[in-house]
Amino acid sequence: MTDHLTEYRATGPSFREGEVIERIENFRRRRPRLRDSHVTLAHGAGGKASAALVDAVFVEAFRNPRLESLADGAVLALPDGQRLAMSTDSFVVQPLRFPGGSIGKLAVHGTLNDLAMVGAVPSWLSAAFVLEEGFSVDELSAIVAEMAEAAAEAGVEIVTGDTKVVPRGAADGMYVTTTGVGLIPAGRELGPQLVKPGDVVLISGSIGDHGMAVMLARGDLAIEADIASDTAAVTGMVEAVLAAAPATRWLRDPTRGGVGTVCNELAQATGLAVVLDEDCLPIRPEVAGACEMLGIDPLYVANEGKFIAVVDRAEADAALAALRAHPLGAQAAAIGQITAEPAATVVVRTGFGGTRIVDMLVGDPLPRIC
Ligand code: MG
Repeated sequence: MTDHLTEYRATGPSFREGEVIERIENFRRRRPRLRDSHVTLAHGAGGKASAALVDAVFVEAFRNPRLESLADGAVLALPDGQRLAMSTDSFVVQPLRFPGGSIGKLAVHGTLNDLAMVGAVPSWLSAAFVLEEGFSVDELSAIVAEMAEAAAEAGVEIVTGDTKVVPRGAADGMYVTTTGVGLIPAGRELGPQLVKPGDVVLISGSIGDHGMAVMLARGDLAIEADIASDTAAVTGMVEAVLAAAPATRWLRDPTRGGVGTVCNELAQATGLAVVLDEDCLPIRPEVAGACEMLGIDPLYVANEGKFIAVVDRAEADAALAALRAHPLGAQAAAIGQITAEPAATVVVRTGFGGTRIVDMLVGDPLPRIC
């Protein structure tokens, strides 16, 4: 793997501060428009169609500044000046179990990680279950036990919940929705408005493991590979990065839509370019092989225990060292940098010295992976 950190440190273009705000205003207006009359699987894939549906239906109806940030969680100011973060997520993964995890683990990790992405220290979760008539109570108990274990490992409590049952055929076994809250320590600021040209893009580990593990677990592909989901709480790694690199600008977990889509969200929110180096992307050979056979770009495959951190280039070495020192971060890498041009675009520099543009995910090559 090539290490571009030295180069990132040397090549940042200069940039006027006010220009960043102006670009955010301009590019916000460019979000994809909803053209469909009915919901399709692509509206749940986390890519272009999802963004269009969220904008046209949900943001349009619920409009308020906290929602409109479209961050992983909402940041809410309490009367005493403390900031509470709140995030919610539904889980419909099929199959319910796969190498490395289950719907229960995902439901806990996914919401904890979204809270961590807005800088919060998660404390409490709710869990709401939609169960299909006929579902095995033993299977339900096993999945709930895994949720309890995942919550205890992360130091959070599941403090409220709900159960609904629908007739046979009206759901696929079970669905879970978790909501989490936590406090954001004083002085911690993160957001796309802080991202500047010259900043370095880090990933906390290998990409594409979760999506490929679930795809292969369905067994309808004639591919056998030893791939396990990376589902994990990233809260410990986030705290390590923020301690080592206090000027960290922005965090996001590349779940549905993958690294490619998340980098596009950053590019659109800032009007800046995210330039990724293909040689630096940590991808396990088994995952790369399975993606190649299926014709799927690993940049669009979901992760459930990884995050992208955009850090000040002066702190990039320290942030990367902190990640690699963590048991979950051995594969962490600097994968790119922020530049002023080409505006609002994600570019991948290939090993052969070429470049290609990476758009948001279009369609849904991997439905129901979380
Ligand atoms: Mg997220």
